[in-house]
Amino acid sequence: MSTVTIQSKLGQRPITIFTKMSQLAAQHQAVNLGQGFPDYPMDSALIELVTKAMKDGHNQYAHTFGFQGLREALAAKVELVYGLKINVQDEITITPGGTYAISNALTAILRPGDEVILFEPSFDSYIPNIEVMGAKAVCIPLQFPSYSIPWNLVRAKVTAKTRLIMLNTPHNPTATVLQKSDLEELRKLVEGTNILILSDEVYEHLIFDGEQHESLLRYPDLLERSFVAFSLGKVFHCTGWKIGYTIAPAYLTKEFRNHHQFNVFSVNSVLQVAMAKYLEDPQVYLSLPSFFEKKRDLFLDLMKDVPLKPLPSKGSYFQNFTFDHLTDESDVDFSLRLVEKAKVATIPISAFYRDGTDHKVLRFCFAKKEETLEKAAELLKGYF
Ligand code: GLN
Repeated sequence: MSTVTIQSKLGQRPITIFTKMSQLAAQHQAVNLGQGFPDYPMDSALIELVTKAMKDGHNQYAHTFGFQGLREALAAKVELVYGLKINVQDEITITPGGTYAISNALTAILRPGDEVILFEPSFDSYIPNIEVMGAKAVCIPLQFPSYSIPWNLVRAKVTAKTRLIMLNTPHNPTATVLQKSDLEELRKLVEGTNILILSDEVYEHLIFDGEQHESLLRYPDLLERSFVAFSLGKVFHCTGWKIGYTIAPAYLTKEFRNHHQFNVFSVNSVLQVAMAKYLEDPQVYLSLPSFFEKKRDLFLDLMKDVPLKPLPSKGSYFQNFTFDHLTDESDVDFSLRLVEKAKVATIPISAFYRDGTDHKVLRFCFAKKEETLEKAAELLKGYF
C-alpha cells in the first residue's frame, strides 16, 4: 500500500449539486430541469461554421489573448449593445467558459488574508476559488424573497482587507437582475477605495420584461476597477463548448493574461473562428431576450395548476418556486422526493448558501424544448 498522503487544499466538499441532480435525473429517468443547459438543438448555421473553420485549417493554437477576429466581433457587439468602445489588444481575453474566467481572475488578484464580499445564494464555484487562495469569503445574504442586496450590511462588512466585491446579474440561482440604484450604491461604496469588482454576467442577453441589463460595461468609472465575465456557450445554447470572454481595463487584463497563459494558454481555435463569423449578424444576440422570455412564459403558464408558488424571474435560464405552504421538508428532501416520485429534477436553493439557509425554494431550468416543459408540468400535476 502506498505511504504517500496528500492533504486536500479545498477540504471535503460534496460533488456539485448540478452533477448530483443530473445523475439522479438519469437514475430515476426523470425530466431534468435541474442543471442549467438547453436540451434543444443549437443553431445549425453555427455548427456549419465550425465545420467550415475546421476544414479551412484553423486547427492549431489560437493566440493566447483569443482569436483576433473574435475579439473584434465581440468588441463590435459591446459597442452596439452597451455603447462602449473597448481596445481589443488589451481589454478583452477569450476564455474557456465563465467559471474559468472567474477562477482565473480570483487567482490573479487574491492573496492570503484578503477579504471578498459576495452575496448568497451564490454560484457554487465562487467560495472554493476564493478559499483556495487563502482569502476569506465574506458572505452577505440577499434579502428574501426579493433577493435584493442589503447595501447597509455591505457597507458594514467593508474592512481594510476588502479586496474584491463579486456581483452576478442576471443572477443564478435567483433569476433577479441588478438595478441602476444598485450600481449607484456600489459606486458610493467603492469610490476612493482600492476595492476591485468581479461581475459575473454570463446570462447577459437572458433578460425579460423590457428590463435593461445593467452591465458593468455601462459604468466606465466602475469598469476601471472591474473584471466582467461573459459566456458564449450559455447564450448561444451550447454550454458544452465552454467558451466565453472577459473584459477588464488594461492593467487588470495584463495580470489576468499573465495567469491565463500558464493556466490554459489558449482556447479552442475552431470555435473562436466560427463564433467570430456568427456574430456578424447582430440579430443572433438581439433576438435572445424574447426567445428566452417566451420559454419562461410558457413554463409559468404550464405550471399554473401545479401547487408551487412562482417567484419573479427577470433574467437567466431559471424560474424558482416556493413550497413552504405544502410541507415542512427541507428543500433538499423535497427535491429528492420530486426527482424520485414525480420524476422531475430541480435544484434546491440551499445548496447555494454556505450555511445551508433554506427558504424552501426550488430552481427549475426552463431552457428546454416545449415538449420537455410540458412533460415536466404534466408529471408534477399528476403527482400533487
Ligand atoms: N451554470 C449551470 C447551472 O447553474 C451549471 C454549471 C455546472 O454544472 N457547473 O445549472
